[in-house]
Amino acid sequence: MTHEANSSAETVALVGCAVVDGTGAPPITRGVVVLRAGHVSAVGPVGSVHIPPAARVLRCDGQTALPGIIDSHTHIEHDVAAVLRAFVHDGVTTVGGTGCGPALLPLLHDAGQAPDAARVFAAGPAITAPGGYPGGRGDGSAALGIESPAEAEAAVDKLAALGVDFVKVAQEPFDFDFRNPGRLPVPGPDVIAAIVRRATAHGLLVRSHVHNVTQLDIALDAGVTSVEHMLFPLPPDVGYVELYREGSLSTDALPGLRKRLARMVERGVYVVPTIGNELANIRAGLPEFPANALRAIEQLMVAVLTLYVEAGGRVALGSDWVGRPGFPAGMPRREMRYLAEAGLSPLRILRASTRNAAIVCGQGATLGVLAPGRRADLIVVDGDPLSDLAALDRIRIVVKDGRVVAPAEDAVPTEDAVPTEPGHPIPTEPSP
Ligand SMILES: [Zn+2]
Repeated sequence: MTHEANSSAETVALVGCAVVDGTGAPPITRGVVVLRAGHVSAVGPVGSVHIPPAARVLRCDGQTALPGIIDSHTHIEHDVAAVLRAFVHDGVTTVGGTGCGPALLPLLHDAGQAPDAARVFAAGPAITAPGGYPGGRGDGSAALGIESPAEAEAAVDKLAALGVDFVKVAQEPFDFDFRNPGRLPVPGPDVIAAIVRRATAHGLLVRSHVHNVTQLDIALDAGVTSVEHMLFPLPPDVGYVELYREGSLSTDALPGLRKRLARMVERGVYVVPTIGNELANIRAGLPEFPANALRAIEQLMVAVLTLYVEAGGRVALGSDWVGRPGFPAGMPRREMRYLAEAGLSPLRILRASTRNAAIVCGQGATLGVLAPGRRADLIVVDGDPLSDLAALDRIRIVVKDGRVVAPAEDAVPTEDAVPTEPGHPIPTEPSP
């Protein structure tokens, strides 16, 4: 593994900004964040934090610092460097790669090391049944088809040797042909359980693409870390399009919904909703599908997510970015809006987009939170995203691994003269 922080990064102190640390804790209203050698070295209110004399001081009054945003679910296959650059310049300092061929994995890792690129933590090929989803897509290399617990163990060993950052499983019995839906084989319960056991032994967590409640129960029994997409509450033999045609697009048509959501909460499972892309899949596969029906499906997904959130469920941000027209690489605003519609406060949306997204990428100990020892990834935005998330549209500074990557270094306002001696805290002044 070569995800090393850049030890030559300069020492930077952001002074005067509000600080949202990513944990869901209330913000520091006027804070200081010190970054040193590619890591966060101190965070606290102005007056309580020692600013190293060599630090470059960036005044950020009226602005808010928060961890770099993490889009935990993407499929970047083309123009990798340009896409990762677009993500990082829009404040997304890390992306999760949730399924790609083995040849692409090192390219994603390497491209993500560039200073001017979002870094990537990726699954490599998704484990599935022979002939299962997503094997029919592209050249088929993004799927690893297996059918026994022994093969499951060998597959996880192979992925670990490839250097994956987490394991992705596909429990998808539909082929996503919305016109003539076909069935696909899925791994059995014993296989899913073996995958999770072996992955855990390798220190890897498992994220599962889960379609329908039968697959959900299997995933929960096995102990997956996250359930990807909002397909999990569906009855075994229908998709949302069929539910619409049956006239039963309602939470009442979703089997044992509240009981299952309660079990997910109890298990501490993360849901990565990817609602925008789910709807885009239907729109692309069935262009004649009525807009009001699509809206009804959207509302049902949001209703399920709302119940999950109300029950105490954990959510992590992920867009399922695939390079579709209308879904630019960058801040996953559309998914954030769905989280808001499901009742998450801006503070909780930011936690889903930083700490929780880091956790599902297997990086819960190093990323997603502004705290001493964490990697120095952060963004500074104008205004207060906790009163209005649109502040995320006003990014002033992006820092990755302690380096200012956006805007250009010479465009960042700097205050070089620091009125402190070593070990002396910067004085607290009233805001203008
Ligand atoms: Zn995906």
